[in-house]
Amino acid sequence: MENLEKAGLAVNYNKVPDTKSKSLPKRVFIWDETLRDGEQTPGVALTIDEKIEIAKKLDEVGTAIVAVGFPAVSEEEKKAVAAIAKEGLGKASVAAPARAVITDIEACIEAGVEEVPIFIATSDFRLKYQLRMTREEMLERLTQCIEFGKEHGLIIDYIAEDATRSDMEFLCKTYKTAIDAGADKICIADTVGFVRPEVMKHITREIKARLWTKSKYKVPMSAHCHDDFGLATANTLAAIEEGVTYPQVCVNAYGERAGNAAFEQIVMALEELYGIDTGVETEKLYGLSKLVERHFVVPLPLHRAISGDNAFTHSSGIHSHGQLTHSMTYEPISPTLVGRRREFHLGKFVGRHFVEYLLKMGGVRSTPEQTREITERIKRTHEERKKTQSKVAFDQIKGDLKALRTGVSEREFWAIVFDVI
Ligand code: MN
Repeated sequence: MENLEKAGLAVNYNKVPDTKSKSLPKRVFIWDETLRDGEQTPGVALTIDEKIEIAKKLDEVGTAIVAVGFPAVSEEEKKAVAAIAKEGLGKASVAAPARAVITDIEACIEAGVEEVPIFIATSDFRLKYQLRMTREEMLERLTQCIEFGKEHGLIIDYIAEDATRSDMEFLCKTYKTAIDAGADKICIADTVGFVRPEVMKHITREIKARLWTKSKYKVPMSAHCHDDFGLATANTLAAIEEGVTYPQVCVNAYGERAGNAAFEQIVMALEELYGIDTGVETEKLYGLSKLVERHFVVPLPLHRAISGDNAFTHSSGIHSHGQLTHSMTYEPISPTLVGRRREFHLGKFVGRHFVEYLLKMGGVRSTPEQTREITERIKRTHEERKKTQSKVAFDQIKGDLKALRTGVSEREFWAIVFDVI
């Protein structure tokens, strides 16, 4: 197919130099959190086999770091992490997080992972109400934990939880303290998905201004953004524009509450809109999405970018006809780039040109009159279709899906309580 840009028929403003930050990295390394934050999607619990299958797939597509689970959560979880660590992944680093608590790090060591992201909150209110620590106590704990991890030969990352609501001076002091203690990477976490993209840029720049003056403090940066305002992907990209090279993502944007930045969106935006190499084989993205969706038993919205069923489906006659004249007419990228195929939906928005195309493909000849009649009948059939049945089925499916969310009900909780007490 003709390259519209080369032919001078379409302008790609994404390539205008002024629109690209000077700090934009050339290479980005994908840090996947699907098996950790992603699994914290309410109602999800993966088996060891499912975890292994997903971890292998993540490795196969080109993920740099795979956080495979949280060993301190349970013995079963530690076993799952250990199983993946034992088998090892091809290229990806096998990581498992720990709170800034020695026993958590010990659990990671026992599980045999090579990389441990240690997280602790940095905002004053979290220190006061959640951790009940002074700033000094927090710094001391951080040093102790990172040094402990380094003594055991681990790659240690420091995640400043709630970084985007923390005092900048203190936040940077924690980063410096962590690096002094041996941290290999640092992470800016927008834990409650609170900031705007411009603010994410501002925070990243401020951190760099305070840290990068000394080469010692110039360690790779990561960003962990939540989607509470639907800005996780935008905020992650904003952080990358200012030099973050290890975006944390979850396949299908799964995760706590509204979820995290979506793996597939971050990769495709970086590759296609920024021209940045992510090391990911994009043709495998759809397979990855489907595998994770199936094991999570949490359906992808049909209209979701990249992996939703409708993402490359054309419905209106105008669009379908446009697609037949040139594939780029109503598609920003070819579906094959993410391992998918273009689809067309037949219904009330269908057009005569598209019907003509279908007839031609089917080897059927028709007069203009007949084509018009076929088109009209398709429209009418769709419009007259009763929705009562669909609505009953929809309610049923929604109810079934809710019932599929595993976990412990309130009744089961009290049954456990009375059994124990
Ligand atoms: Mn998170």
